[in-house]
Amino acid sequence: MSKYESEISRRRTFAIISHPDAGKTTLTEKFLLYGGAIAQAGVVKGKKNSRAATSDWMEIEKQRGISVTSSVMQFQYEGFCINILDTPGHQDFSEDTYRTLMAADSAVMVIDAAKGVEAQTRKLFKVCVMRDIPIFTFINKMDREARDPFELCEEIEKELGIDTYAVNWPIGCGKDFKGVYDRNKREIIHFTSNGGARQATAVEVGLDDPELDGLIGPAFRTQLQDDIELLDGASCDFDMERVRHGKLSPVFFGSALTNFGVEPFLEDFLRMTTPPLPRQAGEVIVDSMDDEFSAFVFKIQANMNKAHRDRIAFMRVVSGRFDADREVYHVQGGKKIKLSRPQQLMAAEREIIEEAYAGDIIGVFDPGIFSIGDTLCAPGKKFRFDPIPTFAPEHFRRVRPLDTMKRKQFLKGMEQIAQEGAIQIFKTPYTGMEEVIVGVVGTLQFDVLEYRLKNEYGVELYMEGLPYEYLRWIENDTGEPIKEEQLILGTDVKLVEDYKGNQLLLFASQWSIHWVQDKNKDLTLTEFGG
Ligand code: GDP
Repeated sequence: MSKYESEISRRRTFAIISHPDAGKTTLTEKFLLYGGAIAQAGVVKGKKNSRAATSDWMEIEKQRGISVTSSVMQFQYEGFCINILDTPGHQDFSEDTYRTLMAADSAVMVIDAAKGVEAQTRKLFKVCVMRDIPIFTFINKMDREARDPFELCEEIEKELGIDTYAVNWPIGCGKDFKGVYDRNKREIIHFTSNGGARQATAVEVGLDDPELDGLIGPAFRTQLQDDIELLDGASCDFDMERVRHGKLSPVFFGSALTNFGVEPFLEDFLRMTTPPLPRQAGEVIVDSMDDEFSAFVFKIQANMNKAHRDRIAFMRVVSGRFDADREVYHVQGGKKIKLSRPQQLMAAEREIIEEAYAGDIIGVFDPGIFSIGDTLCAPGKKFRFDPIPTFAPEHFRRVRPLDTMKRKQFLKGMEQIAQEGAIQIFKTPYTGMEEVIVGVVGTLQFDVLEYRLKNEYGVELYMEGLPYEYLRWIENDTGEPIKEEQLILGTDVKLVEDYKGNQLLLFASQWSIHWVQDKNKDLTLTEFGG
């Protein structure tokens, strides 16, 4: 294998998803710890007062002590080069979170053992399923009182519609957490923690070892033997093919905080997950090992430096090798360009890089030329990666400038921010251009919008909440826009258009979606826009 091939095949790029507080940050830190990227836990994300290691760019982040944007980290572990895409949690939840999943080849889902499947996990999970990528489950916080492990697996299967295969099985929980039983190796990993800041030590003992009673006690031993018998009889077989297609999720139990089961999880995960996956570009399938460089933009982060109004475009390298000295072709812009100041995040550091390989995520300086979904490739190539879907916002406001004289700046700002993908903007056939309906996935985006329009464009906003929570795109291939009179719509439904001219309906409730579907049998509605 050439250096080039081995660089690509050792890459693993995954997103880590969870409901807030399930332990995503803690688990990420432990990964970095094992990878030697950090010396001590506690540097990945400062929640309230310590510095946000990865994205302390925007003033609003500093004010609130939260991370508005998702971040990327790279580290090395046992020959693998690992890219973790972090997805922010709930109050700072935005479309970025969804789009980040478009750049990943697999997902690690962290679940709180006392809580099970929660709202945010469910949302993110839907996107993973749409992509058909492998999903690994880490059931965390076993050092606390936890729900029954069978019940947790059943909940994942029922709620998320994916089969599970427990790779290891917990012995006790809370104060009585004794470790896990590795079903493949058929041995117990008994843990002794030393506080979680450093790596824990593990003792491996076979199920029939007489020492076992001494370690976990006869009651737990009997319970474990019963559990394993039940598990072997009742659960799915392990099928790698189904794992690779996101149909079967390998499940691991552990405790990120006290370091129970983190390293075995990391090792099994790396063994089971895929090297960089190919991507579709219309008819063309672009493979990671293709000779030439290609990438797509999945996220744009604006105004890290207010004085320069610059942006960083994050791209996922799909194929080949990125070389900072070579020109690339920006397909949507129709121009050859040199990507400037390419950078990558290594744990807490931001570094300017010279090269990157398929699977990596790089951020480049964007003078305002990129949009979400843009393709970059070798000059002479002409493919475009399939567009990144638009996700349905859940919060809507009517927005206009307080000062009507500022209409121009208002529209410019709204359009630019929409181009970055932070908000979606809509109009109704009856409103003038002074007024825009803004939709966001997380309400924090409204604050960001208000802040940015004031600070960057000098426009104060008037915002009015709208009662809608659901949006569905109308599928219509007749070439003619649908008129409101052609539809039977209740009073709590609104017909709007996005800026690409696609028509959509805004609904106040799920119930009203059903009602409209029922009254308009020929209407086809979708949750993800093109
Ligand atoms: P995130 O919001 O998903 O990133 O969650 P964090 O990693 O910030 O964790 C939320 C809280 O749960 C923090 O107070 C952690 O210390 C705690 N926590 C994380 N993992 C564990 C665990 O395995 N056991 C216990 N007892 N607490 C944990």
